[in-house]
This record gives sequence, C-alpha cells and structure tokens, in this order.
Amino acid sequence: FRRNPGEAEFHQAVTEVFESLEAVSLKHPEYAEAAILQRLCEPERQIIFRVPWVDDQNRVQINRGFRVEFNSALGPYKGGLRFHPSVYLGIVKFLGFEQIFKNSLTGMPIGGGKGGSDFDPRGKSDGEVMRFCQSFMTELYRHIGEYTDVPAGDIGVGGREIGYLFGQYKRITNRYESGVLTGKGLSWGGSLVRPEATGYGAVIFTEEMLKTRGQSFDGQRVVVSGSGNVAIHAIEKAQDLGATVVTASDSAGFIVDEGGIDLELLRQIKEVERGRISEYAQRRGTSNVTYVSGGSVWDVAGTVALPCATQNELGEEAAKKMVAAGTIAVAEGANMPTTAEATAIFQGAGVLFGPGKAANAGGVATSALEMQQNASRDSWSFEHTERRLSEIMVGIHDSCAATADEYGIPGNYVAGANIAGFVKVADAMLAQGVI
Ligand code: NDP
Repeated sequence: FRRNPGEAEFHQAVTEVFESLEAVSLKHPEYAEAAILQRLCEPERQIIFRVPWVDDQNRVQINRGFRVEFNSALGPYKGGLRFHPSVYLGIVKFLGFEQIFKNSLTGMPIGGGKGGSDFDPRGKSDGEVMRFCQSFMTELYRHIGEYTDVPAGDIGVGGREIGYLFGQYKRITNRYESGVLTGKGLSWGGSLVRPEATGYGAVIFTEEMLKTRGQSFDGQRVVVSGSGNVAIHAIEKAQDLGATVVTASDSAGFIVDEGGIDLELLRQIKEVERGRISEYAQRRGTSNVTYVSGGSVWDVAGTVALPCATQNELGEEAAKKMVAAGTIAVAEGANMPTTAEATAIFQGAGVLFGPGKAANAGGVATSALEMQQNASRDSWSFEHTERRLSEIMVGIHDSCAATADEYGIPGNYVAGANIAGFVKVADAMLAQGVI
C-alpha cells in the first residue's frame, strides 16, 4: 500500500484477491518463491498522458489519459477504456488488476489492462467527443496493437467513441488493423452480440447459480442498478427468462416500474436520445411507475439483484436490508459494485453471490471472439456467437464452483473466481521466467 499511496480502489481489489489466495500459497510454495504475487501487483507498464482538445466555444481543454498494461502472461493486454470525471490512476489500476483474473477465467488468450480518462462525455456535442477521442488516440496509438494491447469500451465509451478512436488509429498508422480495438460497429469489423454480451452473460451466470438451488430466473423480481450498456442488456435477458425487472437507475436517481421495465422506452431514452432515467417515469404513461431522485435503488425489495452501474454502489447497510427483504442472489454486472463489507453480509447469509470478475466476463470474452473473427476475416451469426458466449459463461460458473469445492469452501464464488483465475496466470508466469 505504501508503494501505491491514495489508490483506495486498487487496495480494495488487491486485498480481496490476497484473502482468497491464502489457501493457494500453502498448496503452491513455488508461487511465493517466484514472487508471483508481488509481480502481479506491479503493472508491466503504466502510461499517463496529456489530452488537449478544443471545445465548441473554441476554448482549449485539458484532460488526463491513462493506459495501464498490467499483465501479458496469457496474451496481449485486453481491457476497456473508461471516460468519467472520477477516473484517476487508482480506478484504472483496480480495473486493470481485476481484468487479469477475469480474462484468465474466460479461457481466452488475453492478458489484463485498462485505461481511460477523466473526460466527461455527458453534455458534450458529437464534435467535442470526436476531437477528444482523436487527441486521446494521438498518444495512445503508439502503445497499442493487435499483438500488444487491445482496448475496448467501458463507462462512457460505447460504439460512438470506439468509432472515433478507430478512425484516428487508422489515419495515424495507415493500417486497417481491425484487431486493435473491440466493440467496433458491425459493418467495420465488429461482432454480433458484443453490445449485449456483458449484460446477457451476467444473467446467464446468475441462472447457473440459481440452478444449484433448484431455481431459475422465471418468476423472480429483479432489481437492477444503472441504465447503460450492461444494465439494459441484463434487463433484456432477465425478462426473456421470465423475470420481472422493476428498477433502473442513473447517477441522479432511480425508477421503480411495478409492471416490469418497458425495454423499448428505456432504450429510446438512454441509447437513442442519451437522456436521463427521470424521463422514463414521465413518458411511461402508467401510474405504476415512480421516480426517486437521489436515494438508493437497493431500498427496493427484490429476490435477485444485479448491480450494473459502478464501483462501491452497494454498501453494508443496503446489503443488510436486501437480506432482510428476501434477496436470494446477487451478481455483479459492474466491476466491484459491492463493498467488501456488503459481500461478507451476503455470503454470511447464504445469498448466492457472483463476483464481477466472473459474472461480467461475458463482455471481454465476446471481445476475444471479435478478435477471432477479425483474425480470420470472418463474421459469425448472432446464434453462433451467443452460443459461444453461453458456453463460456457456463464454463466460468462451473470452474469457479469446482475450485471453491476443491479448496473446501463450496458455494464461495468470490474465492473460486480469484483462485481459478490466478492459478492459470501464475503457471504461465512461472513458465515464462522472471520478466
Ligand atoms: P455505461 O456508461 O453504458 O453506463 C453506466 C451506468 O452507470 C449509467 O447508468 C451511469 O449513470 C451509471 N453510473 C456511472 N457512474 C456512476 C456513479 N459514479 N454513480 C452512479 N451511477 C453511475 O457503462 P457500462 O454499462 O458499460 O458499464 C457499467 C459497469 O459495468 C462498469 O462498472 C463497467 O466497468 C462494467 N463493465 C462493463 C463492460 C462492458 O462491456 N461495457 C464489461 C464488464 C464490466 P450516469 O449516466 O448518470 O452516469
């Protein structure tokens, strides 16, 4: 911690993994001898750069750009870019660290990395977003590539931003290198199912957890936070499986729709108009909908909870209320949305708990499928790609569960994910020597 002062989220992510790995150290002294953990915590490379751009009023704006290339034992660095005012080195490092284990769990040949900027795309014109993305890529391009580092989207970075970033990369390098970014548009190298993959994957993972208790999504009352890419597709899949999803939120408040979220309206407001969740309540046209400004979406009772917004959005008090209200399963669509204290409460109460690095791995797994399609200059059908995603998510679930069993902690998906993800990376690092 002394080596990385002030990086609270990074400390939190590392602490959770270290706690899970105590049992592994006893079984595998060779990892300690090779200082695997110490090496894992130190990114292979960290890049911080200035991003100057000109806004619509002709004023010069300055943001800070980051790319942390954490670990390449299993493949090129892979992980998203986040554009949000809260981004600083500690956020990028927590996300990059988690990404190492998540990517390992997918079984695909991808290492871990993450990046982003404290740029806030909200309220910016398309022209401003484009100029920012072009400036960001003007530095980033020298560090990335199909065989080195392959960024994708995250909070604040969707199809529009990936388009501008890809255009600038192509222009600077004079190469149509499809495999340099994932999350691309369908007509220029993107993959079907990539936009849906994280939300769908989280629901598939949850369904597998529910099956271990003889249950399913059918008939569940589901509370979802967020209303971005992950939340929208989690809502869609949960409803397809017969659940009633009653909430969605943004950073200003949340809606409760007792009749079940109207997905078409939600998509129109969030994806087409880039509007706010409060507008949903005004436009839904039924008395069954309420909008709560501020407050916590976790006050709404449900049997299944899918936090899909941001880190540390679900704390101890909320977890206690949710357990009392009858929550049986929680799966993290977002990265580290549940605090350590809240996670302990869920686990102590026997609630099925799917950690983000397993439950939301469907997004990066499908990014790796996009890379496969790019490498073979092919594009797969929706059905084929979704089947691959589904197989991967079931595989991740089973490997977390089997690892938890092997280490004598059945049902502990947190430890199962950390250990299963770690062992594969550690073995690759051992094989590749001290680098
Ligand atoms: P989006 O930008 O599409 O949506 C983010 C959502 O979370 C918005 O509703 C946003 O509300 C809300 N949100 C963001 N920051 C905050 C905050 N500080 N407080 C409250 N609400 C907030 O992002 P994604 O859906 O892509 O990402 C959501 C989460 O899922 C993140 O944790 C991300 O790391 C994780 N994830 C995403 C993957 C992907 O494929 N996209 C893959 C794996 C994980 P508002 O508009 O008000 O900011």
